Amino acid sequence: MGSDVAERLASVRARVASACARAGRPVESVTLVAVSKLKPAALIREAYAAGQRDFGENYAQELRDKAVELADLEGLRWHAIGPLQTNKVKYVAKVASTFHALERLEVARELSKRREGLAPLPCYIEVNVGGEATKSGLEPSALPDFLAQVRELPGLRLVGLMSLPPPTDDEARARGYFQALRELGQRHALTELSMGTTHDFELAIEAGATLVRVGTAIFGERT
Ligand SMILES: *Cc1c(COP(=O)(O)O)cnc(C)c1O
Repeated sequence: MGSDVAERLASVRARVASACARAGRPVESVTLVAVSKLKPAALIREAYAAGQRDFGENYAQELRDKAVELADLEGLRWHAIGPLQTNKVKYVAKVASTFHALERLEVARELSKRREGLAPLPCYIEVNVGGEATKSGLEPSALPDFLAQVRELPGLRLVGLMSLPPPTDDEARARGYFQALRELGQRHALTELSMGTTHDFELAIEAGATLVRVGTAIFGERT
C-alpha cells in the first residue's frame, strides 16, 4: 500500500517553483530539504524514489540509525537540522552532509575535531531573530565573536545562517524575521539562508531563502 508522499512532494515542489517565480529567482536557487524526523525509513525511500535527495533530521541517534538503514540510497544527503549536545556530535559528524544549527563553540570544536580526514563540514549558524518567543539560536549581537572563533576551525566550513522563527499567521511579521536573517547574512558575507518550514516556506523564498526545510507538507503530521 503506497502513501501519498510522491504526490505531496510534487505539490511542495510546485509551490517552491511558484514562489521562485514570484520572487524572480531561478528555481535552482532553492534547495528543498525534506524533514523526515520521526518518520519511518519506508517513507524516505518513497521520497527518494520520487527524486528527493536532501533529507533533514533533528535527533542525532535517529539520524545515525537512518543513515545505516538507508545506506543503499546513493547520493542521499543528510542535513542535521536540530541542536546538538557535545556528547552526540559523534553520531552525526561523519554522516551529515551539512549541519544547520551551530550555536555553541564547544559543539563547533567537537564537530571540527571529528571531521578530521574528511572534507570540512558545511555549517549554518542558527540565529535567533524571533526574540523572546524563540528558545534556540545565537543572539545576533553575539554573531561577530562567534564567527571569528568558528572560522578558525579547520573541520568546518561556514556557509550561511539558519533560523526557526516562531510560527505566526501574521505575514508581515514572518517576512520581518526572514528579512532580519538575510540582512545579518549580508553584513557577514554569509550568502546561504536556511529558513522556512511547512508553515512559511513560500514567504521565506520570497525573502531570499536558499534552502527550505519542509516536513509536514511532505510526510504528514508527526505524532
Ligand atoms: C521539524 C523542523 C522543520 C520542519 O517543520 P515542518 O513544520 O514539519 O515543516 C524544519 N526545521 C526544523 C529546525 C525543525 O525542527
